[in-house]
Amino acid sequence: APLPVSRVAQSRLGGVRMASDEPWFEDCVSTTSIDKSAFEAAYATAMNAPAPAASTSGKQDFLEASPFWDQSNIPINTYKNKAPFTGKIISVKRIVGAAATGETCDIVMSHGGKMPYWEGQSYGVIPPGTNPKNGKPNSVRLYSIASSRYGDDMTGTTTTLCVRRATYWCPELKADDPAKKGVCSNFLCDSKPGDEVKLTGPSGKVMLIPEQDATADLIMVATGTGIAPYRSFIRRLFVEKTPYGEVYKGLAWLFLGVANKDALLYDDEWQSVLKSYPKNFRVDYALSREQTNKDGGKMYIQDKVAEYSDEIFTRMDNGAHMYFCGLKGMMPGITEMLEGVSKAKGIVWEDKLKEWKSKGQWHVEVY
Ligand code: FAD
Repeated sequence: APLPVSRVAQSRLGGVRMASDEPWFEDCVSTTSIDKSAFEAAYATAMNAPAPAASTSGKQDFLEASPFWDQSNIPINTYKNKAPFTGKIISVKRIVGAAATGETCDIVMSHGGKMPYWEGQSYGVIPPGTNPKNGKPNSVRLYSIASSRYGDDMTGTTTTLCVRRATYWCPELKADDPAKKGVCSNFLCDSKPGDEVKLTGPSGKVMLIPEQDATADLIMVATGTGIAPYRSFIRRLFVEKTPYGEVYKGLAWLFLGVANKDALLYDDEWQSVLKSYPKNFRVDYALSREQTNKDGGKMYIQDKVAEYSDEIFTRMDNGAHMYFCGLKGMMPGITEMLEGVSKAKGIVWEDKLKEWKSKGQWHVEVY
């Protein structure tokens, strides 16, 4: 008998998923189905899997599908709200400078090889405690995974998240109101090595990499913690010795928008990849409080992308994939900008977007 899945699956129009398109919401309506036996087989495999042995070849090739680009059996929702996996925090590190707006942490946790995931997926985190508004246990929050499937230590047993601490600035107090701070992000950023963390997932297929085509350019646009999935891509492509990285011939082009230099995320890693792969990797930053756009205004992410719009259109028409991840608020500016560029080229934007979506080249995960 088919197992129900949420309306999420059907609402993914041409690869577009909004933040609410996740199977974690209680009011999900079931109308489509997946194959129960395939699901149970995948679940049993994940539950019984021994921790993967570290690579003896020195390569990151021991957690691959066959062929490596085959996405038909990727792990999906192995652990659910009612039966989450309990992972353990390994490290929590603040990764922004003193002048950054807000705090962002790199959080590494152990899953012991029991909660495998692919690049571009997310984990759910169930923070401890109850929600005072309804007396029920706190609900799950999603976080994009920032490590490759091999984890930063390349053992295949850890997961890295990149979490921004959600705070509430009270205009009356003229200070942060601790009573209104974000529950889960603060739990994660305050956690200590050894602390337990309840995890669900992995979830999401929208941000996967089209590995079958090793020449496809990947244009990755992020605001803030939206960098997370791209870090997983870039590690798989350029840091680890993976079958995909070995054959990759395209351009991976990262755009990151943050407030200022201190708020840049993982810049040292990007600089080191740039040194080793100057032909296959590019990075461009939009620092809204430090740079100005061509009209003298603040440099937002869409302004930086606009500087290369001709090249981006050409690359997209040649089969590139474009990704967007980060705050929901980034999308109107981006689409408005691309619409303007299309118009100037005599192209109908709606038609162009439809074309890119239908070819699976347009990937959106914003929250
Ligand atoms: P919550 O407790 O849910 O509060 C939400 C906001 O409301 C906070 O800003 C809080 O300060 C404010 N608030 C609380 N009480 C009040 C009140 N009484 N009045 C007014 N405001 C109030 N986030 C990341 O940091 N990194 C990621 O990689 C990431 N990936 C994501 C991927 C997906 C697919 C999605 C959907 C979301 C992702 N998020 C990510 C966002 C994340 O899921 C959480 O939404 C975020 O961390 C805030 O959760 P929280 O529990 O800390 O805040």
